[in-house]
Amino acid sequence: MPIYEYRCQDCKALFETIVTSAEAATEVVCPKCSSSMVKKTISASSFRISSGSNSIPSGALSGCSTQSGFS
Ligand SMILES: [Zn+2]
Repeated sequence: MPIYEYRCQDCKALFETIVTSAEAATEVVCPKCSSSMVKKTISASSFRISSGSNSIPSGALSGCSTQSGFS
């Protein structure tokens, strides 16, 4: 059975689903927010990055030095 990778368009969650039929592929919903706005992505095994979907938000490195100072 093929395993497809989907990305939720609402909460940007990435998840995998076993699709058993063409009908099932159209009924995939996000496991996080139950949205049906999901998009199938190309499942490239070489692109797999460990486990988890951590991504560095753009702008996180811009002058964030609030941790230094008082203790
Ligand atoms: Zn979602």
